[in-house]
Formats: sequence, C-alpha cells, structure tokens
Amino acid sequence: MSLLVVGSVALDSIETPFASHKDVLGGSASFFSVVASALTPVRMVAVVGDDFPEEHVDFFRQREVDVEGLQRVEGRTFRWSGRYHENMVDRDTLDTQLNVFQDFKPVLPDAYRESEYIFLANIDPKLQLQVLEQVRNPKFVACDTMNFWLQGETLESFRKVLASTHAVFVNDEEARLLSGEHNLVKAAAAIRKMGVERVIVKRGDAGAQLHDDDGIFIAPAFPLEGVADPTGAGDSFAGGFVSYIANRGRLDGATLRQAMVFGTATASFSVEAFSLDRFKTLDLPQVLDRCAKYGELVRFDPISL
Ligand code: AMP
Repeated sequence: MSLLVVGSVALDSIETPFASHKDVLGGSASFFSVVASALTPVRMVAVVGDDFPEEHVDFFRQREVDVEGLQRVEGRTFRWSGRYHENMVDRDTLDTQLNVFQDFKPVLPDAYRESEYIFLANIDPKLQLQVLEQVRNPKFVACDTMNFWLQGETLESFRKVLASTHAVFVNDEEARLLSGEHNLVKAAAAIRKMGVERVIVKRGDAGAQLHDDDGIFIAPAFPLEGVADPTGAGDSFAGGFVSYIANRGRLDGATLRQAMVFGTATASFSVEAFSLDRFKTLDLPQVLDRCAKYGELVRFDPISL
C-alpha cells in the first residue's frame, strides 16, 4: 500500500504561557508523515528553502519517509508563528510567511502517481488540487485546511478539493467558517452536503467527532497531565487516522472507529513535547499501549434499570 501527502514543511516559532521556541521543525506534512510512517510507507510532496536544516530531512529519512518529492529551492522556508492562550487550546497566528510555497508547482515523481491513499494536508488548496490532478486512481483521499485558506479565491478552490475527497478534517472554527452554522452537528451535515462523505471535527482537548452515513462517533481526548505544545495535534491525528486505514485496507464502520482511536492516541503524544520531538523516542508498542488504556477509559457496561 502507498500513502502520499502534500502539505507544508515549516520552521515554526511557538509561544506558550510556559516556554517559547524559534524556528523549530513544523508543518502539516512533517507531522503527518512522521506519524503515518509508523504504519505505512509515506511519500512526501513539499518544498523547503536553502535555509532548511539538513538534519530535519535526515529525520524524515530515518522514519522511512520517501523524500523524493520534497524539493529544495533557493529562498526561505515557509514560516509560521503562533501564540497559545492560558488554556493551551486557543491560539493566535502571529505570522504566516509562504516564502518558497508562493511559486511552488508540485510535480509528482512517476511512482507517486499510483499512490492508493492520499492526504491533502493543510496548504494552499490550489496545490492540493494540482496534486489530485496528477494521481491516477486513488482508493481514499482525505483533506485538511486552516482558517487562513478559507477566504476569497482560496476558499473557492477548497470547495473543489472538498467535492473530490472522501473525508475532511476540520476544527470547530473551520467547520463553522465553511458551513456558516454554529452548531457542530448542523455544520458537519452542511459540509457533507458539499460533496464529502465523512467529516471529522477535531476539538482539541474536547476530542474528535466522526460524522458519516452511520451517524456520529465521538472520541474524547486522552487525558494528559501536561501539554507542552499543541501545534501539530491535528496533523498527528490525521496521520494516525489515515495510516491506520491504509494499513488495514478497509473503510467499514468498525475500522473507521478504530482509526479515530488510533488518531486520538497519536495526537496525544504529539502535544507532550515541542515540535516533533516526542516522535524521536516514540515507538509503536507505546502507541498501542495507550490505545489499550483508552479502551479502559471509555468502556462501560450497558445501563439497565
Ligand atoms: P495544527 O496545530 O495541526 O493546526 O498544525 C499546525 C502546523 O500547520 C504548524 O506546524 C504550521 O507550520 C502549519 N501551518 C500553519 N499555518 C499554515 C498555513 N496557512 N498553511 C499550511 N500550513 C500551515
């Protein structure tokens, strides 16, 4: 099986009430690839500038991420900076510099065109569309975005992306922006009417919801004693979710629910350290152990009076 991702590879500057870090490895494609590669081979399509530290590319390679589609060009790498509020959930984007992404034209290496599973991570929807046009016959396509892209011309492109995918990941704010509905059940239903079968709403420490033909499935967040940096939690969730589906090769209701739990577990590790640092020491048995603990946390006997 083969999983292709297009998205941002970034240098992030993050401030939390407790610490701040400058120019650390970030980006939607980075989090997604590193997480997903634990279960399935990943092909990465993105661009970095000549200032991007080679040690990060080595880290991708160590995780067996195929970086043939990661272009390095003259110029500055994409940069994003954000500041988290006291609650460590809400955040303000302080700055987004597209830099080398401004003129990026993704050209897929030939082998990538046959990829069966596709994740269109948060990036300019026009780039998501260009990638989609180059793949031949994918089995499952999922996409993500961010409020930054949900306005004007790029919003129009994102609507086209939505209509050609099988699943979309959104947070509450994005769900409301896209649908114009405040209530999340109504918002998810409205987004499904735009042509995408499954809507996954990510709600930070309030967990995630899957909305599809079977109804709604809810997965609470795994309770943690401390959160160091929530950045990338959404991409790590998607990395766990999509790689689980690719690994199993099925899309039935039971598999989708397991994918929600696997995504919840991988996202919970992501926030325990800054940037992608937690993944430097994480292995699959630790993730599976957390999935088992999670099963205990949500298990209860049927109620009968
Ligand atoms: P998340 O916390 O899951 O929403 O993902 C945050 C990551 O998305 C950061 O590492 C950023 O580098 C990246 N990012 C932020 N804004 C954008 C944007 N407008 N387009 C693409 N990637 C972005």
